[in-house]
Amino acid sequence: MLILLKPGSTDAQVNDVIKTVEALGYQAHAIPGKSHTAIGITGNEGPVDPEPFLVLQGVSECIAVTQPYKLVGRSARPEGSIIKAGSIQIGGGHFTVMAGPCAVESKEQILATAKHVKQHGAAILRGGAFKPRSSPYAFQGLKEDGLKLLEEARNQTGLPIITEVKDVESLEKVVAHTDILQIGARNMQNYSLLEAVGEQDKPVMLKRGLCATVKEWLMSAEYIAARGNLHVMLCERGIRTYETTTRNTLDLGILPSLREMTHLPLIVDPSHGTGIAKSVPAMARAAFAAGADGIMVEVHPDPAHALSDGPQSLNFAQFSEMMAELKALSKALNRPLAGH
Ligand code: PEP
Ligand code: MN
Repeated sequence: MLILLKPGSTDAQVNDVIKTVEALGYQAHAIPGKSHTAIGITGNEGPVDPEPFLVLQGVSECIAVTQPYKLVGRSARPEGSIIKAGSIQIGGGHFTVMAGPCAVESKEQILATAKHVKQHGAAILRGGAFKPRSSPYAFQGLKEDGLKLLEEARNQTGLPIITEVKDVESLEKVVAHTDILQIGARNMQNYSLLEAVGEQDKPVMLKRGLCATVKEWLMSAEYIAARGNLHVMLCERGIRTYETTTRNTLDLGILPSLREMTHLPLIVDPSHGTGIAKSVPAMARAAFAAGADGIMVEVHPDPAHALSDGPQSLNFAQFSEMMAELKALSKALNRPLAGH
C-alpha cells in the first residue's frame, strides 16, 4: 500500500505515519515528491487495512498497490524521479549523455576520451574498471587502478563518473571512487549485490538482464529501493533474441510502457544494444525521440585496438558527429541536453 500525504504535510505528520506502519510490524519507505510525500509499505503479506492511517493528520489517501514493485511503481512518485550526480540531472526533461570507453585501459586513453566527450557535450563519463567478461581469458579491467584513473579524469574535466560494480567484494572500493554505480546486465538478478547497493547513498544505474522481462527488471530495481536507495535509473541495453544481425535486440518499444509503469529515469545503451558502431547514432536519436532520459555510449580513441567492445565503440569523429545530431534533435524536441 501507498499512503499519500497532503501537500505541505509536516515532518511530524510523516513520522506519525512511519511509526504507525512500524507498530504494525511492517517497513515504511518515505518517498518525497514534488508536491507531496508518499510512504510505501513493505513486509505485509496480505492487504493492509487503511483505517489506522486515514485517521492520522496529514494523510490524504491510501492506495492499494497490486504489483510486486511498489516503491519504483509510477504511483509512488507520479511526477517522475530526478537523479543528481554532481551538478548533472538525470530525468526531469533533460537528456543526459553518458560516454566513454567500455574499459579504462590507460591514463592516456581515459583522459583523451574524457576530454573529447566533454568538449562535445557528454555530461557523464563512463568507463569499466571491474569488467565482467564472457571469456575468463579476456581483459578483466584495471580494477582499482582503473578507478583511480577515472577519478583523475573527473578531476581534469569535472565530469561525474559511472562505473560498474561487479560483485559485493569490490563494492566498497567502487563506492569510494565513483559518482554512479552501474549494475551490469549479467548481475541484474544478483540479489545480494542489489541489496548491497540498496544500502549505499549513491545513484545506481540498473541494466536490463540479457533475457529479463520488464517485470523482472522492475522487481530487481525494487530490491534496491526496498533497502532504502531510491536513486535508481534503468538502462535498456538490448536483450537476447533469435536475431543475430545485431549483438542484442535493442528493445525501444518498451519505453512508453515503462514510463507508465515506473517513475525511475530511463536510459538507453545503443552500443551494447546493437554491437555495431555505425548503428549507434541512429539508435541514440531514436532513444531521444522515443522519450528516453539519456543514453550511454561507448567511445574509444582507437576502436580497432580496444581491449573490449571495439566493434561497437564510436571513434572521436563518430562521437562528435552523433552529438551534433543530438543537439539538433534537442532543439527540435525542446529538451535540453543535461549540463548545457
Ligand atoms: C558495459 O556497460 O560495458 C557492460 C558490460 O554492459 P552490459 O552489462 O549491458 O553487458
Ligand atoms: Mn562494453
